[in-house]
Amino acid sequence: MAGGGGDPLASRKVCVIGAGMAGLAAARELRREGHAVTVLEQGADVGGQWLYDPTTDTDASDPHAAAAAPVKVHSSMYASLRLLGPREAMGFSDFQFVPRAGRDARRFPGHREVYLYLRDFCRAAGLADAVRLNTRVVRVAMAAAPLRGDGMGRWVVRSMDAGLWKRCGGEDQVAAAQCVEEVFDAVVVATGHYSQPKLPTIQGMGDWRRKQLHSHSYRVPDPFRNEVVVLVGCGDSGMDIALDLVAVAKEIHLSAKSVESATTPAMSKMLARHGNLRLRPQIDRLCPDGRVIFSDGSRVVADAVMYCTGYRYSFPFLDTAGNFTVDDGEGEGSRVGPLFEHTFPPSMAPWLSFVGIQRKTMVPWYFEAQGRWIAGALSGRWSLPPEEEMVRCAGYTHDVEPHRELMAIISRNTSDDMETFRDRDDDSDNVRRHLQEWYGLAERQAQDGEEEEEEEEEEEEEEEEEDSATAVAVAAEATVHSSL
Ligand SMILES: Cc1cc2nc3c(=O)[nH]c(=O)nc-3n(C[C@H](O)[C@H](O)[C@H](O)COP(=O)(O)OP(=O)(O)OC[C@H]3O[C@@H](n4cnc5c(N)ncnc54)[C@H](O)[C@@H]3O)c2cc1C
Repeated sequence: MAGGGGDPLASRKVCVIGAGMAGLAAARELRREGHAVTVLEQGADVGGQWLYDPTTDTDASDPHAAAAAPVKVHSSMYASLRLLGPREAMGFSDFQFVPRAGRDARRFPGHREVYLYLRDFCRAAGLADAVRLNTRVVRVAMAAAPLRGDGMGRWVVRSMDAGLWKRCGGEDQVAAAQCVEEVFDAVVVATGHYSQPKLPTIQGMGDWRRKQLHSHSYRVPDPFRNEVVVLVGCGDSGMDIALDLVAVAKEIHLSAKSVESATTPAMSKMLARHGNLRLRPQIDRLCPDGRVIFSDGSRVVADAVMYCTGYRYSFPFLDTAGNFTVDDGEGEGSRVGPLFEHTFPPSMAPWLSFVGIQRKTMVPWYFEAQGRWIAGALSGRWSLPPEEEMVRCAGYTHDVEPHRELMAIISRNTSDDMETFRDRDDDSDNVRRHLQEWYGLAERQAQDGEEEEEEEEEEEEEEEEEDSATAVAVAAEATVHSSL
């Protein structure tokens, strides 16, 4: 195994795409391992989603046009957005997200505080010189043949000035003369998955003449003053935006897939407090005259319909010759892979990897662990299983089991009282207790993971047990190193 038996660790030339939480976490780990890292970021600063952008992609009459890939505005954050999870769960393992004087010191701070924290982290980790801002990656493809004798130099990364990219209409297929091409040994994709709107199919959407938009393009409540607004989707965004609108809109109708399951204690409290808020079933159809007909036959005449229906994966720049796909069938961009442990496409591992693909994770620890794993796999510190084994275990959906418990804590909070859970007086104990519960669970899972691995290794009578690593083991290491 490379890197084992005293072999020196290899240093690779690695391109990280994206300087959000995932890209920064990966870049730091890659650097620590001795790789030469370049981070290409289309935005004017680091921070990803947390770099609030008051501009939008919206063409208010045609949400399909606004949702067409690729979106030109990355961030989907609205002005009032505050963290759903406590800041204690949002810090890197050795760079905690502590309150700072003169800033938003709340336990559940607003989006700007997370952006400032990520900017601080980038500086503290000495990454500023590695990040090339305002640089849109428009194509990543395998080199026709590795460019160096040792098999390295596998990826050609084409990028261009992000401002020019927008002025060219946001098309990734632009003239080569406007682009820069560079060759890297490895590419880490960390471009996020909360930007490309996912829209439902509703009869009459195409003929609706009034305001229609996806929550990706929602920023502030004022444009909805005195309007009747239908929000499609009762997830965190739908409920949060409904609460943002109650003070200005005439009526808000929250349309849920299932009224029964949407009727949580939090929803009941919201409905009791705000007379202009109503819970509705799914929309049956939209009529050109502004009527919205719900599946139970009830109807309203609305000024605006907003789709709080989530996001889909999109990697418009990635050309892997079919070795990695984003499903555009039933799931509409919600399946992506194959990926071993949400990180490596088996046929291209470790030379292509993804950080932050998972859903239902709140914390950067997982990103750190992925970064550490990728860095070690590239240097030869750790070996990956054989390709056939990775293929056998690889998946296309990316909800992460170990984090379900933490997510459950958060949904317990939000389903109790969406309006007040962030500002409870008894919060300290509550948060500490839940986080400790979660740390305990993570440690137990780490031990189980290690035991499981050992058993498997014994069964297979393999010799490389000390140096092989999985995301579970590396994630456990990151978690154990974290402190409250
Ligand atoms: C409305 C909303 C609320 C949220 N609330 C929470 C919350 O309360 N708690 C929580 O933990 N998470 C929340 N999230 C999820 C949040 O996105 C993640 O916490 C985190 O930002 C993911 O980091 P990332 O680095 O994977 O992606 P991102 O933050 O999206 O960063 C990706 C980066 O890649 C860059 N990029 C993309 N394509 C290219 C390209 N072609 N070339 C160059 N650069 C590119 C982007 O500009 C961006 O900087 C929320 C998300 C949304 C949309």
